[in-house]
Amino acid sequence: MNEFTVGIARCETYDRDEVHTALHLAVERAGGLPAINVPDVLIKANLLSPSGPEKAVTTHPELLRAIVSEIGSTPVHIADNPGYIFADVGTLMKKTGVASLAEIDGVSVGMLSDLGLRSVCEKSFRALKDARISSRYLDAGYCVNASKLKTHVETEMTGCIKNIFGTADTSTRKMAHASTSQRHLADAIVDLYSIRPPEFNILDAIIGMEGDGPSHGAPVKIGFIIAGRNALAVDWVASTVMGYGNPADIHLIAAAVERGIGPRHRGDITLNGLEWDDLPLKGFKKSSGFVRAMPTALRGFVHKLVALTPKLSEPGCVSCWICKKVCPVDAISAEGRYPQINARKCVRCLCCHEMCPTGAMTVHKNFLASMVSRMRQRGE
Ligand code: SF4
Ligand code: SF4
Repeated sequence: MNEFTVGIARCETYDRDEVHTALHLAVERAGGLPAINVPDVLIKANLLSPSGPEKAVTTHPELLRAIVSEIGSTPVHIADNPGYIFADVGTLMKKTGVASLAEIDGVSVGMLSDLGLRSVCEKSFRALKDARISSRYLDAGYCVNASKLKTHVETEMTGCIKNIFGTADTSTRKMAHASTSQRHLADAIVDLYSIRPPEFNILDAIIGMEGDGPSHGAPVKIGFIIAGRNALAVDWVASTVMGYGNPADIHLIAAAVERGIGPRHRGDITLNGLEWDDLPLKGFKKSSGFVRAMPTALRGFVHKLVALTPKLSEPGCVSCWICKKVCPVDAISAEGRYPQINARKCVRCLCCHEMCPTGAMTVHKNFLASMVSRMRQRGE
């Protein structure tokens, strides 16, 4: 075992007994949970939106239940700051299935921001000027990062490092997204992660998401629970499962590697439970954010030509104006019945697509983007 040991265990369904057994195995293979010498533990779940567990948007409640059991008798608080809150806490907890966990002795559920926010400004920040972070998270003596493995139209993948982005408030997240540079967002996420890395990381990759995640992709059976003390090591293994031959092709992973928050290459990771060659999931559909898979030297150039832009499909729009609220550069106006996008202001962050509750805000590929996409699907 070393600090970058990752444990992986097969888990085919969310059957309670199967999840408990597989989680215990994954944690053991990762070297076990670090000793808990604090009065309570925070579980930072991914509760991005009020979606049912079958949609694979959020950490599954059966995995959270198994984590509670793995922690033992120490009281546990399960929490998140949903992306740009647009539902009351009760609805969020009920729809994600997390409310039922509050019936377990010693377990509470709630919002990460319930004890307020604190401004943090670190010299090491590369993208953020300052960040407003949940005090409950900053002050937690012990945090288990309970993430969900999904694709992401901006960051390509979301796993353990990205899950910590959810400890920040809306204005900090908007600041991170308000740039045409994919690297800016990746650096901002690593800025946030570096403030207070969690003590342990568990990734729900039983049913994950493929396609244009993290909200509107398709659920896909992956069949793994992945665990480890180092979030980058776990994400490295997870991106290999998603079919990335070199995970450092993903901006987020590359930014994390550069900052020295984990392994620098695959050889630094001890993988227990499976062989590397057995990880890639055949036919897994990556997100449309394929421009990030281009060689590093071409990325900036390619990004200008191969454009992914938000496009409204009016029949699905319920005029809730969430897209307008989340846009980091005020590029959306509400002059008529439906949102209007100012293309000159838009920085193509696709937050409006991510947070649209109906999926009416879609991702449009220009001609070159569609061509590259077709070529990739054919494996050219
Ligand atoms: S596009 Fe989506 S988020 Fe925007 S107003 Fe319509 S339904 Fe709401
Ligand atoms: S319109 Fe959508 S994609 Fe464009 S900047 Fe606003 S939120 Fe981002």
